[in-house]
Amino acid sequence: MTIDLSTRAGLGRAITLIESRRPDHQAEARALLAGLMPRTGQAQRIGITGVPGVGKSTFIESFGTLLTGMGHRVAVLAVDPTSRRSGGSILGDKTRMAKLAADERAFIRPSPAGETLGGVSRKTRETMLVCEAAGYDVILVETVGVGQSETVVADMVDFFLVLMLPNAGDELQGIKKGVLEVADLIAVNKADIDEAAARRAARAYEAALHIMEPASPDWSPTVQTISGISGMGLSDLWAAIELHRKKTEASGGRAARRAGQQVRWLEALIQEGLADRFLGRPDIAARLASVRQDVADGRVPASLAADELLGLAFGAE
Ligand code: GDP
Repeated sequence: MTIDLSTRAGLGRAITLIESRRPDHQAEARALLAGLMPRTGQAQRIGITGVPGVGKSTFIESFGTLLTGMGHRVAVLAVDPTSRRSGGSILGDKTRMAKLAADERAFIRPSPAGETLGGVSRKTRETMLVCEAAGYDVILVETVGVGQSETVVADMVDFFLVLMLPNAGDELQGIKKGVLEVADLIAVNKADIDEAAARRAARAYEAALHIMEPASPDWSPTVQTISGISGMGLSDLWAAIELHRKKTEASGGRAARRAGQQVRWLEALIQEGLADRFLGRPDIAARLASVRQDVADGRVPASLAADELLGLAFGAE
């Protein structure tokens, strides 16, 4: 099957193929991706996180529209581990971003439903590549920040943006340390409500970032105040993202970040594939079922049981 990626319908079909669990579809998706690889990698990949209500969809709608107005083509993807439980995604939903969804220079794709975080992130990475091949030069990957999802998204993008609320200065203790570690920029949103409060919160985040070792020698994470509703600060934010791109392209830091991400992804895929094949073998499954109780009851040491099962699959060490 040949898929014409020059239309949004064609792009949608390619992504549906990637999301399908059918083995024949998966084989087709792999072939499609392999053929597309030379046309990927040109986009600015931006991750966006923040608690529900911080204003992610409002921000993406305004920011995306600003970018399409500048001539960019913008794809919005979502990594939403909650979609597994709810059966429907709370992120990347077209109805939340009606204006951007109607913009012909934009493409919005909700998180694949019924997937684990690993499954969602795998499909989102592949979807990102297809969007790049289709000519989208800015990819916004949105996540709600549940569990490990921020870290997973930070590890698939060039730039990670964390949205915060202006009154959150006092909640600084509550912010997940892991999020500060992966932030390239913190944007204090809703600054239109009380600019002074937003600036106070910004100073508190600056102080928190200051005591951390920057992850990259090219870039010290910064803090800006913005408003998704009024559009305040959005051009400055894009300027910061462009500056980051310029600096990290010149230093090789961006290529190194992507190379590291690709290798970590390869390793994750191998681990996942190994576990699936191992646990999917009927002899292993049967033996595991019987030995599990022995281990639970303390009759057999876990290490011995694991060695025996691994020996069944791969031979003795
Ligand atoms: P999300 O859950 O992070 O996607 O947040 P939404 O974009 O749905 O916004 C949550 C609420 O905050 C909505 O009522 C928005 O209208 C409001 N909101 C979002 N951005 C801003 C902003 O920049 N300023 C103000 N005053 N309100 C905002």
